[in-house]
Amino acid sequence: MGGPGLPQRRRLVTEVPGPRSRELLARREAAVARGVSVMLPVFVTAAGGGILVDADGNALIDLGSGIAVTTVGNSAPRVVDRVIEQVQAFTHTCFMITPYEGYVAVCEQLNRLTPGSHDKRSALFNSGAEAVENAVKIARRFTRRQAVIVFEHAYHGRTNLTMALTAKNHPYKSGFGPFAPEVYRAPLSYPFRDGGLTGQQAAARAIDVIESQVGAGNVAAVLVEPIQGEGGFVVPAPGFLAELADWSRSAGAVFIADEVQTGFARTGAMFACEHEGVVPDLVATAKGIAGGLPLSAVTGRAEIMESVHPGGLGGTYGGNPLSCAAALAAIETLERDGLVDRARQIGERVLPRLRATAERVPAIGDVRGRGAMLAVELVEPGTRRPDASAAATVARRCHEQGVVVLTCGTYGNVLRLLPPLVIGDDLLDDGIAVLTAALESLAS
Ligand SMILES: *Cc1c(COP(=O)(O)O)cnc(C)c1O
Repeated sequence: MGGPGLPQRRRLVTEVPGPRSRELLARREAAVARGVSVMLPVFVTAAGGGILVDADGNALIDLGSGIAVTTVGNSAPRVVDRVIEQVQAFTHTCFMITPYEGYVAVCEQLNRLTPGSHDKRSALFNSGAEAVENAVKIARRFTRRQAVIVFEHAYHGRTNLTMALTAKNHPYKSGFGPFAPEVYRAPLSYPFRDGGLTGQQAAARAIDVIESQVGAGNVAAVLVEPIQGEGGFVVPAPGFLAELADWSRSAGAVFIADEVQTGFARTGAMFACEHEGVVPDLVATAKGIAGGLPLSAVTGRAEIMESVHPGGLGGTYGGNPLSCAAALAAIETLERDGLVDRARQIGERVLPRLRATAERVPAIGDVRGRGAMLAVELVEPGTRRPDASAAATVARRCHEQGVVVLTCGTYGNVLRLLPPLVIGDDLLDDGIAVLTAALESLAS
């Protein structure tokens, strides 16, 4: 049995991965396409709180939450109860054939929780990529324009349109073209790498590219992650997002926030746009929305959402009843258990330790993030040249000691932390101690 009742202690009984996981890895290699790659080949049998238990009985500390998904913890009690109730009642009807209350209730919650008090509507889908694709469809329908502006280092998914929207070539796009047209890339605000431009200066640079190379009157949407995820946990300089949102409004374009990774309490606010006082026209959400069940959504201004004709949006599984039950339980858990505050506390607890480590380790170029979305960018000492092999070394040392950390970044040189918000302080401290020791070993 998983869930928060699992002992919240790191415990290694074999090497990582152990013999049983290695057996399963061999089966995997014979049966599963290698294009679907694995970061840490321990096969999980139970999880809860901040712990993943593997097939050999090792208990690992989870500082990844399955990429920011199990924000409320694995097998969170309310999620388990509601999903069991729902699975016993009915599993699927297709909302577009015969609807059910759960879908409507999730849309009501999204309309309430996303930034801004304007009249909103929502539509539900299955994955983050599908939500982003639909946000672009809606923006094009509303504006009757085609161009979509995206940013350097952006990640928006793996479907054909979202590959075009994504910046990094390998492994996401390599060999998979041709890509969708009318996608234009603008420079980002990346304080560690853009010479300290202010948010306003970085926005002016991006707007100049948009106006001179695309033309304001052609822009359907400006699509941006308020804090970049796969691209390296890049936090833009203050003001960057607000300037872009203002420009979009004045140009008649739709400002879309991709909050797939940053949403649902992750950054110490329900949505990351709130830190900047930015109210997007449309918000794409997924990952942390439903405690591990697949669900995504587009939420936004009623007049934009309602510009699409009946039948223009949807899909067989979008807003599946089990996922909706899980989302209602996850949202209740975030609110009742104070997990927005908990995300902020996690940042306050961990950031000073990472910054203190950076003082001693010249390979640490930058420490950044908000709430429980934190990163360490590694460079060749004394330079800003990205060092992916140092990041891989640190990640491997953490994995060997039973701490699951992820890497990211266009250059693969960023370690990222996305702990479940229900992790206890003791377990979190143990995981961070393993990480900081692995970082310190770079200096010796
Ligand atoms: C993960 C992610 C996506 C894609 O979500 P999937 O559910 O994997 O399709 C899109 N945008 C951002 C910012 C993401 O982090």
